[in-house]
Amino acid sequence: MLRSENIFDIIFLIGFVAGSVIRKVYTARCRGHKAARRHFTVSDTALITLAGVGMVAPLIYLFSSWMDCADYDLPVWMGWTGTVAFAGALVLLWRSHADLGANWSAILQIRPEHSLVTHGIYRYIRHPMYAAHLLWAIAQALLLGNWLAGWAFMVTFVPLYLLRVPREEEMMLEQFGQAYRDYMSRTGRMIPRFWR
Ligand code: SAH
Repeated sequence: MLRSENIFDIIFLIGFVAGSVIRKVYTARCRGHKAARRHFTVSDTALITLAGVGMVAPLIYLFSSWMDCADYDLPVWMGWTGTVAFAGALVLLWRSHADLGANWSAILQIRPEHSLVTHGIYRYIRHPMYAAHLLWAIAQALLLGNWLAGWAFMVTFVPLYLLRVPREEEMMLEQFGQAYRDYMSRTGRMIPRFWR
């Protein structure tokens, strides 16, 4: 049973389920594609696990009273801003999965048949999926009036993002050389660049 009938708790839950379905569908499509080279460390595993906990923490908040001591009131305008941010996160998550196809992986790796994706949403922004996760974290903080559940994904995802992006770009440069360098010069890292 949901702890309350707060509209923003319900909106968060709907967004959470929609995001999980998008991820599940595209993860299933990537199954069977092997990794050729892994650029992956123990600290990556720890950070991914932590971010996963930060992402699912709201379920404890929504379905139990364990986190009630950390509740606080949020203004309604924040809830609606969070709703827009969550919608944006879901669109970005869907488009980045659709465009990246079998090149996607949760960990840093290059697949045997890896190709450099520069079409679709990747025409404008190099890390739309990470941008989606950041928007998700912002939405979580704006929708859930609870210090633990609201901020859990923000504080666990940001360190993962800061460590990962430079390493990912280094890996892509090593693999694709000048093609990735050119791609970097015409795209934004997290903010889309619509001009050339
Ligand atoms: N950073 C991207 C992709 C996240 S998934 C985003 O935020 O949208 C991580 C994997 O995607 C990495 O292991 C890397 O192999 C792959 N990848 C990242 N950018 C890519 C690109 N432009 N083309 C193909 N594969 C890419």
